[in-house]
Order: sequence, then C-alpha cells, then structure tokens
Amino acid sequence: MSGEVQAPVCGHWVGAESRYCRAVDGVRLFLPGYACPAHTPSALADRPEPQPGPGYPAAAWTTPSPISDSRVHDARAVASGKRRSNPQAYRAAQAAVSEQRGPR
Ligand SMILES: [Zn+2]
Repeated sequence: MSGEVQAPVCGHWVGAESRYCRAVDGVRLFLPGYACPAHTPSALADRPEPQPGPGYPAAAWTTPSPISDSRVHDARAVASGKRRSNPQAYRAAQAAVSEQRGPR
C-alpha cells in the first residue's frame, strides 16, 4: 500500500503519438476505463454524449408480485371450500375474491 491516492487520468492510447492521453481535466469512469471528454466511448464513436433522461416510468415498479399472486390463489381456494379454514377466514376469502372479480 502506497497510501497515495492517484487522480484518475485518461487511459486512451493516442496511437499517432504513441502515448497515453493522460489528461486529468473532466476525466470520468467509463466501462473501458477512465477517459477525458475528448476520448469518451461516444466521442470515439463519433456520437453525441448520452444525456441524462427522466429515468424509469413509475409504472415500471408496479410489476405484480408472485407473493400476492399466491395469496390470491389461497383466497380462491378457501372461498371455493376446497381448502379447509374457519368460517371467518372463509367469509373473508369470499369477500376478497368477489371484490377482485368486481362488478363487470
Ligand atoms: Zn483523453
């Protein structure tokens, strides 16, 4: 351990000059490694830099959970009388199932 914190430098190989870029200004970490603004993957591919977007839509997180799915199946089984339960649970399950089917 050297105890020395090295500042990130651009690791792009400048082939024409047979040296690494080694720029330190605006260097950020990319998948291939650290790169200065002139040597980002997008810049090297002649593309505009990707801009930050709004992110995932809120509905992306409303995926039905398999846990509540199994609860629904349990309620249906209890409500149909195929699954043993006490009268309170039977009525609650029937209410849950009829509520789920809802008025059509
Ligand atoms: Zn560079």
